[in-house]
Amino acid sequence: MKVLVIGSGGREHALVWKLRESPRVEKIWCAPGNAGIAEEAECVSVDPADTAALIELAEKRRPDLTVVGPELPLVNGIGDAFRSRRLPILGPSQIAAQLEGSKIFAKEFLQRHSIPTAQMYGTYESAEEACAALAEVKWPLVIKADGLCAGKGVLVATEEGEARDFIERVMVRKELGTGGKRILFEEALSGEELSFILLTDGERYAPLVPTRDHKRVFDGNQGPNTGGMGAYSTDELLSPELRNTIESSIVAPTLGGLADDGIRYSGFLYIGLMLTAEGPKVLEFNCRLGDPETQAILARVDFDLAGVLTDVAARRLNPESLRWKPGASVCVVIASGGYPGKFEKGKPIEGLTGLEPLNGVKVLHAGTQRVGESLVTSGGRVLGVTAVGGTLEEALVLAYRRVEQIHFEGMHYRKDIGVQAGRARSAGN
Ligand code: AMP
Repeated sequence: MKVLVIGSGGREHALVWKLRESPRVEKIWCAPGNAGIAEEAECVSVDPADTAALIELAEKRRPDLTVVGPELPLVNGIGDAFRSRRLPILGPSQIAAQLEGSKIFAKEFLQRHSIPTAQMYGTYESAEEACAALAEVKWPLVIKADGLCAGKGVLVATEEGEARDFIERVMVRKELGTGGKRILFEEALSGEELSFILLTDGERYAPLVPTRDHKRVFDGNQGPNTGGMGAYSTDELLSPELRNTIESSIVAPTLGGLADDGIRYSGFLYIGLMLTAEGPKVLEFNCRLGDPETQAILARVDFDLAGVLTDVAARRLNPESLRWKPGASVCVVIASGGYPGKFEKGKPIEGLTGLEPLNGVKVLHAGTQRVGESLVTSGGRVLGVTAVGGTLEEALVLAYRRVEQIHFEGMHYRKDIGVQAGRARSAGN
């Protein structure tokens, strides 16, 4: 079996790592990949934003399966383009990917199917219209840019001045590009946040093991938001009762609603939830796996990932075939100095080779590049040290032991990944 993976981060390295463990996989290409992926797959320099180039690549190499990491190619319609050319692909169609690609589409979908979510005040196409509507809302107010905004499109505003400033930046100065052409207002929900991620072929689905990520840059959830500084997974993160509630009140009407709308969803579906006093409510959908949650989730895979993903692409998922390692997993992200603000690239990375391998530990690459003989940094998030263990403590000890062997100038990482385990998740993390 030949597989094409699209993307270049830690999430895609984790996919390549686990796909490669399948006995049926003989070849993996990754477009464009990174220096760590290049040791396990053939990297092809094709931009994930360039659908035509991805089609050309796949028509030439004829992969038996394509797995898409990031949202952009899915929102651009790669799912339909590949399927119409009989190229098996794991990922939703362009219309289904609108659940992530348009917050307004997602909100209208949720309302149409009576799925619990924050109440919307309205949608706006200009700054004047939006500012006028501010007179009618309660505070805090949630403002969401409609399109893809690389995680910068949502503001929980506490007062009018802050809201006006965001509206001006998004709709007048267009700081978020076309993603900010339309915006919506909705009520602010309070509670703990939880993500529920599942794999579906449109008819059947299987939940993945629960994970929690750490979005703030510094220990104790301090500092600005990042793409994610780490994640962990234990079964205790989700009680059987809560899981049942989420499956009956959110997952069933979501998949049913998609089917009613004539949309057959296939691929990963990430449901961001707020656990409110009235029960779980949907904050957002993502049409793909998260990064770094994927690293923690896939570390616990105890099944043939290539086989299961092929079954999903062929619309014959057997949910029983997903088996997970008991215990826990963790991913600690090592970032460049300055990240998530400005950072320098090209710092040589030491401690990746020539060491005794640690059982249960895998160093996944995100922003790395090979320059001659050495590996250097090439992004904000550089590495994701991932470990599995019988308990969360075991996994943490292993991961941090490996983290401490790695060095590059300016590197930083959180020392409290998984420390919140068993405690309530605070908002914003
Ligand atoms: P989203 O991309 O829609 O999940 O929004 C990003 C983050 O904004 C979420 O993870 C929440 O922390 C916050 N958020 C989004 N919608 C709401 C809401 N209605 N009430 C409170 N917080 C929200």
